[in-house]
Amino acid sequence: MLGGSPRFSPAVFLTRPRVPDATLFAELIASIFRERWFTNDGALVRRLEADLRERLGVGFLSVFCNGTVALQVALRSLGLRGEVITTPFTFPATVHSVEWNSLSPVFCDIDPDTYNLDPASAESLVTGDTAALLPVHVFGTPCDVDAIARLASRHGLSVVYDACHAFGVVRGGTPIGRFGDLSVLSFHATKLFHTAEGGAIVGPDERLAPSVKLLRNFGIVNEDEVLGVGLNGKMSELSAAVGLALLSGIDEEIALRGSRAARYHEGLAEMPGLRWPAVAANTVPNHAYLPVEVDPEAFGLTRNELHAALRAEGIVTRRYFHPLCSENIAYRDLPSARPERLPVAHRVAARVLCLPLYGELPMSAVEAIVEAIREVRAAAPRVRAVLAGSL
Ligand SMILES: *Cc1c(COP(=O)(O)O)cnc(C)c1O
Repeated sequence: MLGGSPRFSPAVFLTRPRVPDATLFAELIASIFRERWFTNDGALVRRLEADLRERLGVGFLSVFCNGTVALQVALRSLGLRGEVITTPFTFPATVHSVEWNSLSPVFCDIDPDTYNLDPASAESLVTGDTAALLPVHVFGTPCDVDAIARLASRHGLSVVYDACHAFGVVRGGTPIGRFGDLSVLSFHATKLFHTAEGGAIVGPDERLAPSVKLLRNFGIVNEDEVLGVGLNGKMSELSAAVGLALLSGIDEEIALRGSRAARYHEGLAEMPGLRWPAVAANTVPNHAYLPVEVDPEAFGLTRNELHAALRAEGIVTRRYFHPLCSENIAYRDLPSARPERLPVAHRVAARVLCLPLYGELPMSAVEAIVEAIREVRAAAPRVRAVLAGSL
């Protein structure tokens, strides 16, 4: 940005999907070809479900074609009517799943330390029409699950967690997928654990399993009976093969990410103007993301300016979750979407930047990114002047 060549060429991306072991993957694909069974509750899907149920410590797990359809089915399976309180600081699919069920999303402000749905703010939004809460464990940081459970029981609300970021997270000894009525995972290629495209509905017990499985497969009960408005949410055997071939390496991936996250934290700990979300000590994290919050006064540059300066160095960061879901044309006219009602979400969405983090990211690259951030900060006035000229 100030002349010279970028630190990374080619650029370093936010994430890089893990690749399955080629031999194991080839064997699994050969078994699909041998059996001529590509989908519809095949052997690999059933094996993946059993292995994931065990790895994640949940009572119920059903895999899906993607996380978005899983969210739609999770809400549908509860037979809800009316309003669903959710967070604007999330990926668009969270809120879309409410609207696709003809339910009404109600936006709630977030906690300034965890960026998750603020239970007190949620309680103030409960009306006679509120049917459910749809909180997100954003960046894998657990929500205040105890306060959410109390709130739900006080008002008789269902709870569906969007746990798409929270694969393998454990809070206070309890696997994250055991909270609420149901939780939803995404196995998209950009997520920590993936099946190229995929997802799952998980829960503490089998109570909702029949309804979820029916909805996943058109509502087909048997050759003679179809019950209700199902859809096609099935995962194919090909995706299950990717998942099975990746699952044994997932703990290594989490550990590799953890050591890289620790290096970032060490390198940036003393830097004024940077802050990390609060993760409770009783949490086993998954290091799915590395969000950092930029205070423009103390750092000397805004988050957007840092984002642009790092891009010029060949470092691709993401401004999750900007824009907020409440700014979408589909939702922005809702009373709950008004910016003055979501002050924390707006501040956080203007300040958070996710830095590159994945197992194969070399430690030397982490150090170079830390160094780049330090240099950008040291040159803040010149960076700001160049950016002002380019706007
Ligand atoms: C990725 C993601 C989804 C959607 O998952 P897909 O598998 O891509 O459909 C939903 N919610 C959140 C928070 C996500 O990050």
